[in-house]
Amino acid sequence: IRVRPLTCTETHRGDRQVVHSLSDGTVHVSAARHDAIFRFSAVFDAGASQEAVFEGSGMRQLVELAIDGFSCTVFAFGQTGSGKTYTLMGPLAQSETQAVSPALLGLMQRSFACLLERSRSCSSDLALSASYLEIYNEQVRDLLSPGPPCALPLRWSKTHGFYVENQLSVDFESLEAITDLLLQAGSQRRQTSAHALNRHSSRSHALLTIHVRSRAVSGPEHHPPSMWVPQPSACPSKQGTLCFVDLAGSERVKETGSRGELSVEANNINRSLLALGHCISLLAKPGGKRTHIPYRDSKLTRLLARSLGGSGITLMVACISPSSRCLSETLSTLHYASRARRVTTRP
Ligand code: ADP
Ligand code: MG
Repeated sequence: IRVRPLTCTETHRGDRQVVHSLSDGTVHVSAARHDAIFRFSAVFDAGASQEAVFEGSGMRQLVELAIDGFSCTVFAFGQTGSGKTYTLMGPLAQSETQAVSPALLGLMQRSFACLLERSRSCSSDLALSASYLEIYNEQVRDLLSPGPPCALPLRWSKTHGFYVENQLSVDFESLEAITDLLLQAGSQRRQTSAHALNRHSSRSHALLTIHVRSRAVSGPEHHPPSMWVPQPSACPSKQGTLCFVDLAGSERVKETGSRGELSVEANNINRSLLALGHCISLLAKPGGKRTHIPYRDSKLTRLLARSLGGSGITLMVACISPSSRCLSETLSTLHYASRARRVTTRP
């Protein structure tokens, strides 16, 4: 759980702080008619740095597991304006020329740095590539393809499960390359619009997948150079993935002042989040694996099927606002996250 600080607007309005995090991994919500304590594996309060979230959430381990060949997913979840994009990517750059301070970079950039550091270290040989999709109004779009966005078909096969046909994937070898890709595709092409709760609200779910192919190289230091014989595939190669999911925030149309096209978007967002919540509830029930899980109810749940119930390893970061005005959304996020904690996968 990550509790963001009160924003200037909230402070000026005189909103009260109703969420307090305690040091033992619990969140205390106390308001006039609510007093509840929730326990999680990690809780970050308003003062927690981006680095503390990276180190304390298990994100670094997730990167290591992706290198080891596991399918790893991290998702940021929570109400619009609760800090999901901030947690994953850091604050938006104020201008093209002014870069964001390294201390504020999010989980994504920190994970890329970690991956690239490992790929340069002599013990491993990693090939990295990325694909980037958004789900907007129940259509899957490729954020990396040039030209106007077009919808890609989402298919199912016995061997691959659900997959997106014809999605582009781009190789990268440097931090600059992947960061540029993220910023260009993500901030400029992704659907965002301003409304009452957040000036840059994401109106789509975005999924960035890093494919990690690794092959252990037998170190040449064990042999004198003249005796060095290359050993093809001495070690089996591994293929892992690291998927970052920035969910569009849940919102109540009344609060955000959305009308017309915006309210169609809001309804699509809410419907897919509801489908996600439904799958999580069923998976969290004892013996839930044996019941039918309605992944087919939305594009989002199809794409996340493996992360939620299959062979993946998943980290869910639930973001909340401490403000009294967000109380009901905060409680619903906390309940949602408590259910998600009970889901187990078989990596
Ligand atoms: P979301 O993606 O959930 O809609 P954002 O990440 O865009 O929300 O955050 C909304 C606003 O709050 C942004 O201006 C962001 O910079 C700010 N913010 C969010 N989390 C934090 C934090 N932990 N520390 C400082 N500012 C934050
Ligand atoms: Mg966002």
